[in-house]
Amino acid sequence: MASECNGSSGLKIMPQIKFTKLFINGLFHDALSGKTFETIDPRTGDVITRVAEGDKPDIDLAVKAAREAFNHGTWPRMSGYQRGRIMMKFADLIEEHIEEIATLDSLDGGKLFSHGKALDIPGCAALLRYYAGAADKIHGETLKMSGEFQAYTLREPIGVVGHIIPWNYPSTMFFTKVSPALAVGCTMVVKPAEQTPLSALYYCHLAKQAGIPDGVINVVTGFGPTAGAALASHMDVDAVSFTGSTQVGRLIMEAAAKSNLKSVSLELGGKSPVLIFNDADVDMAVALAHRAIFTNKGEICVAGSRVYVQEGIYDEFVKKAAQTCKNWVVGDPFNPQVHQGPQVDKQQFEKVLRYIDIGQREGATLLTGGKPCGEKGYYIEPTIFTDVKEDMKIAQEEIFGPVMSLIKFKTIEEAIEKANSTKYGLAAGIVTKDINTANRVSRSIRSGIVWINCYFAFDRDCPFGGYKMSGFGRDMGLHALDKYLQVKAVVTPISGSPW
Ligand code: ADP
Repeated sequence: MASECNGSSGLKIMPQIKFTKLFINGLFHDALSGKTFETIDPRTGDVITRVAEGDKPDIDLAVKAAREAFNHGTWPRMSGYQRGRIMMKFADLIEEHIEEIATLDSLDGGKLFSHGKALDIPGCAALLRYYAGAADKIHGETLKMSGEFQAYTLREPIGVVGHIIPWNYPSTMFFTKVSPALAVGCTMVVKPAEQTPLSALYYCHLAKQAGIPDGVINVVTGFGPTAGAALASHMDVDAVSFTGSTQVGRLIMEAAAKSNLKSVSLELGGKSPVLIFNDADVDMAVALAHRAIFTNKGEICVAGSRVYVQEGIYDEFVKKAAQTCKNWVVGDPFNPQVHQGPQVDKQQFEKVLRYIDIGQREGATLLTGGKPCGEKGYYIEPTIFTDVKEDMKIAQEEIFGPVMSLIKFKTIEEAIEKANSTKYGLAAGIVTKDINTANRVSRSIRSGIVWINCYFAFDRDCPFGGYKMSGFGRDMGLHALDKYLQVKAVVTPISGSPW
């Protein structure tokens, strides 16, 4: 039996979309070309609204505004404490509009409204507050040096930052990038994903209300190869912080190298393993692995898409994993009974179905799911493959959808080797009661985060980023501040100039 596909919606009235234009230097503008593009509701494939389509000339204007605000404006020059207070106000305003913003992300991205309301949007306010608290605690060091000199270091804002963000967590991504950059005194241009532009524009309105000066946050909606590429290759952008696919991450680095050698940080794709050992509580392990891949319809860079189960519990695990899918409700993300909404757009929907087809043709066994679901929109059943081999595409490539690959292993060495066998290194999960196994495996896995007996345990205080082709640089935590700071050493002689 396939999982249920529930069509009814908790959204009775389409909300009014208030902000659809580019936000540059504190004002909403049409694109210079006058062009707009459609943003689509993945529940139906219908158009929600049209949004200004920014391109290179709009990016140029936005960077100019950010540069002016950086070189001559108040934001980098005010005390960290003052910046923090304004950021706190921004956070309060977000909390006053949680439902409206969560609605925008659910409409645009097919995300569960209940999650947006309870987790994502409150989490954005919390991110702002976390970095607001850091804004007046950014210190350098005092250095003794050798010989006749002493020095101190200044940690200065890097300048104008370009943030290029994806569609799977439109709000969380926005504040993951914007909050630490604001805290240190940078100014910025954000290029949201073309699939989910609405909440970013809403945040501009709140930023202005909170008192963030004009030109500090600019948002240019538009497409990757035009607006995104113009930002990555801009000669007057000092740093670019990107989250998205490994393929586009490579283009961002190329653009930075070919233009002004701006600093680059990349948070890219993943093919994260979940390793489940014989001593695990099978029910708990099944629930953990299920959530690790099917949360947010598998559209999470850290999704646990490869599940390795030790042979002693493999058969029981397979049976229970299939059963869990049957109770998983796919349907309208505004319906509180639903666990999984539609894939973000037609392109992703078709990509996931293509991988499901490839998996079958490669010889993996379809245990459950595998089909679209519902009469309209981009819904896909939670899908599990068994008999997956390491060299299959479905075990190596990022699908970014609700597709789990199940693989049996015998020994701890084999599990480690298999877990490390892709080009990615973003996240991993371990399920065991044995502390020695947990310690050994967590130290042997090459990934930016390892969850032991949990998954998706994110926190603004916990650094996050990739090893290998999952990128470099860290978001979240105090580590993220480093992406937006320069270090300047100031040197003086100890007793008079030697010259
Ligand atoms: P996905 O494959 O998950 O859609 P992408 O890496 O394509 O992720 O997109 C992530 C972000 O990168 C989006 O904002 C997108 O518009 C942008 N982007 C896509 N192509 C380029 C490019 N050539 N240069 C700069 N940004 C790009």
